Amino acid sequence: MGFTTFGLSEQIMKGIRAAGYTVPTPIQKLAIEPALAGNDVIGCAQTGTGKTAAFVLPMLQRLSAADATQGRERHPRALVLTPTRELCQQVQDAVAKYGRFLSIRSVSIYGGVSMENQLKLLRRGTDIVVATPGRLLDHMQRRTVDLSKIQVLVLDEADRMLDMGFINDVRKIIKEIPAKRQTFLFSATLSPEINSLAANILRDPHTVSAGERRNPVETIEQHFYSVPQEAKMDLLFHALDAEKMQSVLIFSRTKHGADKICKRLERANVNAVAIHSNRTQSQRERALDGFKQGKFRVLVATDIAARGIDVNGISHVINYDIPPFAEDYIHRIGRTGRAGATGDAITFVGRDEQQYLRRIEQYVGKKIPLKSYPGFTPSTSAPVVRHTGVHSATPLRGHSSHTPGANSNHRPAGHGHQRPDGKKRVPMTTPRRKKGPPGKMDSYSSDSSASSDSSWSNH
Ligand code: AMP
Repeated sequence: MGFTTFGLSEQIMKGIRAAGYTVPTPIQKLAIEPALAGNDVIGCAQTGTGKTAAFVLPMLQRLSAADATQGRERHPRALVLTPTRELCQQVQDAVAKYGRFLSIRSVSIYGGVSMENQLKLLRRGTDIVVATPGRLLDHMQRRTVDLSKIQVLVLDEADRMLDMGFINDVRKIIKEIPAKRQTFLFSATLSPEINSLAANILRDPHTVSAGERRNPVETIEQHFYSVPQEAKMDLLFHALDAEKMQSVLIFSRTKHGADKICKRLERANVNAVAIHSNRTQSQRERALDGFKQGKFRVLVATDIAARGIDVNGISHVINYDIPPFAEDYIHRIGRTGRAGATGDAITFVGRDEQQYLRRIEQYVGKKIPLKSYPGFTPSTSAPVVRHTGVHSATPLRGHSSHTPGANSNHRPAGHGHQRPDGKKRVPMTTPRRKKGPPGKMDSYSSDSSASSDSSWSNH
């Protein structure tokens, strides 16, 4: 089934073709049709499944059809609420991408940047507002945005919006927009809270769900390694080297931790950059752009800062600290394996962190094997603090059984990484050093509940 079956306008089809999409993803297959028929839709889909296009395409179709018949009124007619500024920007990018052959304008409204530019764009007139709740409320209070003509409302990552405490802001905003509208709610999970929110703001919604909502997409291989807290840095260096990691997103629970990891990597000549909420918006943007362009091999992030990061080609996600909440784990690892690509998610589990592992097990309903990293033995002796590089000839605090220097040509152009099972993932120019038994969670990848994601993994 291609996109043609939806009956989208030729301009939108041109946008889809220009984006390089040929086959709709499972959530798109399920959500686009009822949305185009004018229904409210609840979409249960994780990030990375193509959920953005699932609501943006029907929204563009509706607005552009009305545009043709009703002249060029430039009051916002669609509002998308997102929990974070990164996601906000990402949704607006998607609107611009799919709508590039339409005369539809969109504005993104989020905090942490000056109001001036937003005011200018709002005054100029826009069809779509993509916003985080806090800053949008600021504009509403100043009467610098008029939501009285909204026809389409989208709540994106609604579960996250509730987790982050935006429920009251969201309710206040919704009170100000017309009750007669089409509403889409997208969420990775459908908790009782989400269902009760949905019951209040959607009418006879079609609920669609792509895959088992609690499990990550099956193109992500997951590994959990037991490692003492004090040996994590050494394991990180060991793993970066041993797996020839190219584009790595590392999660730290705290801002301080993110900075510390980043500094240690930089000292070892690994191009790394950190993003967290203490960084200004422009620092965060520069960091993300640099990471996307390959200037940085490693991006270190906290959970909040990483929300909405949409970078295709992240080969590895490393949870330096296992997250205390299972939902965050699912969100974190969803940053790799995007758009059908494969990826590895590696989680370091310290002695004191095993309770969090239990939470993830409960959440996904499966037992998780905890392994030792192949070829790495944490040192029990006094720490050696000096890091000279990932290719250091001397093992750092942990003892590595691999031959340091054997991988000294790290990050060659076009390098990919191999799966621990030896299957080739993306072309490599040099053979990868064999590592020990894979710590892969077979139970996950063989889970048929996620099988729907595989149907679009090869285009
Ligand atoms: P999302 O879940 O919306 O964040 O999308 C994840 C990634 O999938 C983004 O990089 C999109 O550009 C990409 N994507 C969305 N729809 C498709 C499609 N039909 N075919 C290929 N890639 C897609």
